[in-house]
Amino acid sequence: MMADEIWTIGRILKWTEQYFGGKGVESPRLDAEVLLSHVLGKERIYLYVHFDEPLEKGELAAYKDLIRQRVQRVPVAYLVGHREFMGLPFQVSRATLVPRPETELLVQAALERLKGFAGDSLLFADIGTGTGAICLSVLHFLPDSKAVTVDISPEAIAVAKKNAEAMGLSERVEFLEGDLLAPLEGRRFAAILSNPPYIPDGDLSGLSPEVRDNEPITALAGGVDGLDFYRRLCKDAPALLEQNGFLAFEVGIHQAAAVAGMAEENPLIARTEILKDLAGIARVVIAWRGDGAR
Ligand code: SAM
Ligand code: GLN
Repeated sequence: MMADEIWTIGRILKWTEQYFGGKGVESPRLDAEVLLSHVLGKERIYLYVHFDEPLEKGELAAYKDLIRQRVQRVPVAYLVGHREFMGLPFQVSRATLVPRPETELLVQAALERLKGFAGDSLLFADIGTGTGAICLSVLHFLPDSKAVTVDISPEAIAVAKKNAEAMGLSERVEFLEGDLLAPLEGRRFAAILSNPPYIPDGDLSGLSPEVRDNEPITALAGGVDGLDFYRRLCKDAPALLEQNGFLAFEVGIHQAAAVAGMAEENPLIARTEILKDLAGIARVVIAWRGDGAR
């Protein structure tokens, strides 16, 4: 890219799309547009109606810096500092997993099932909260609910707290730092939700560079078979559920049957459900304490 040439929005998008494509970036055009609209402080739609507008020097320099990082496979969400989830804007940092679209299935499943609970018993927990994507979405869409969240990473909790504030939800959520259920002893919940780390150790090296080289390993690594966190949660979480409460977990590919089996081994669990995502992958496991009938 020559510094002294005139770069219009249209021209630089075209150039970046080709450059990203050649470097193996998965959605070159979309990424180019998201990064450029971030630099310009505009919506993406602005780009389409200003193709002929030239970039200023400072804008060009800032954009070039983002391009350089993107071809080093830094995720777009880390470069722009946010990611949409359930139609809501979440701040992200390198201490947090970038919320994934498949996790919206867990939120939707939790929302449908929590609607059956009376207002004053509507307390749920979110274990391994990261950005707060799961718990803050449920709180947003279920105005009578309250949440307790746990994460082992203080840096992630700081991001989740900022998101809660920005969404006006701080009053309804408690953030606890600690190991899985340890900070919750003695409490009872209508539901315990979690998208724990679930990548088997042997699969970590085969993840995309965006994930493997950028996202926090503590958000990903689930032990030899990827199931370490489910083992612990299935053993101890049912005792923290109200009668007729439920566990809802996101699981990785080919893990659902094993996780449902672990839940059923707990004598407090009466029934499990497995839900498939849009790609047809069994993605969410629900486990009911009591008969689950409400
Ligand atoms: N809930 C977020 C989401 O769905 O986007 C983040 C999920 S990420 C896969 C897992 C999260 O669990 C990370 O934020 C990580 O810091 C946290 N975590 C890892 N080990 C933990 C532990 N032993 N106790 C509590 N949280 C843990
Ligand atoms: N869905 C993430 C991935 O495929 C993993 C998240 C997790 O371990 N819970 O990279």
